[in-house]
Amino acid sequence: MNDFVFVSGRLSLDLAGTLLWRRSRRIELLRRPDDLRRWTDQAGLLDAPGPMDARALWRVCRLREAVYALIRGWPPAPASDMEVREALAEVNEAARLPLPRHQLDADGHLTRTGSVDEVLGAVARDAVDLLGGDEVARIRECLNEDCTRLFVDLSRSANRRWCGMAECGNRHKVATYRKRRQQEAR
Ligand SMILES: [Zn+2]
Repeated sequence: MNDFVFVSGRLSLDLAGTLLWRRSRRIELLRRPDDLRRWTDQAGLLDAPGPMDARALWRVCRLREAVYALIRGWPPAPASDMEVREALAEVNEAARLPLPRHQLDADGHLTRTGSVDEVLGAVARDAVDLLGGDEVARIRECLNEDCTRLFVDLSRSANRRWCGMAECGNRHKVATYRKRRQQEAR
């Protein structure tokens, strides 16, 4: 069963989205090492990722927060903004870690192997590629004010508003509909 959502269009943003509602209730989705194992599996990063331990979880959550701080604060103001600069250093360091090893056999079967280092490496590399590339101008935060999920708006008209219809778009539609019904009933 897939219990994590991957709607951000980028691995690093999807990881940042595993802490939901950051300005209010702060719902942590990566609570236990096994949550990280399932996220890694569902993200398609590694085939059959092995068990993760508490340290692996701590490292991934730490990188996640550095990625979030970096993206929210990007680009850092000149000669200040220590938090964003520290986050940048941390993400750059993780971007030097190895990436998952992809191997193809003669039957066309792809295997992806690695451990937590490769997970960190892949997330950090995605974040630096994102901020250093053209898509940086398309990073948005979901318009649902409780939802703090980030995504890359790749729609042709560049007017995507929600992280996902199932997550926030439909909720907004229902709320608007209810409001209209209430107004009509008066
Ligand atoms: Zn949302």
